[in-house]
Amino acid sequence: MKPSEYVRLAVKTEAPVIEAGETLQSRFKLRALHSAMGMCTEAGEMQDQLKRHIFYGKDLDLVNIQEEVGDMLWYCALMCDVLDIDMSTVMERNIAKLQARYPDKFKKSDALDRDLDAERRELEGVSDTIKALKRIHKNFSMFPVPSTYEASKVKVMADFEAFIDSLVETKA
Ligand SMILES: [Mg+2]
Repeated sequence: MKPSEYVRLAVKTEAPVIEAGETLQSRFKLRALHSAMGMCTEAGEMQDQLKRHIFYGKDLDLVNIQEEVGDMLWYCALMCDVLDIDMSTVMERNIAKLQARYPDKFKKSDALDRDLDAERRELEGVSDTIKALKRIHKNFSMFPVPSTYEASKVKVMADFEAFIDSLVETKA
């Protein structure tokens, strides 16, 4: 199943939060809160399962663990819908952030000495933007592409808009 299809099906089962007189803003906050609270309760349910196994010697119920993973995924899908973000993008940027943190594999030194700006750029999709611009550059060989990831997304997009404007002016 594609993540976007999962989100579509998941939110079909969301409890309604709109009551008479509520504003759109409060609806947004209530849905986001529903998601955040749900993630915590589901994590607690999983923790309880592990606690019973590790400390009380109960059998580990793997079916229940899987259920809790799915329940957490449901609340993640809800947050994606609330924020109008694509779950695939969330997955891709999460991996991009981790690759910025651990270029090869996990290293304790990398965990302790993180480049938060580089990670933030990955989460903002700056590298996606730069990759897209490089594709444009490859095809048109005109737009000057930033060679590093130092550029902010705002700067990259401003440069791109200026480039598009120059094309329009040339054509006019
Ligand atoms: Mg549950």
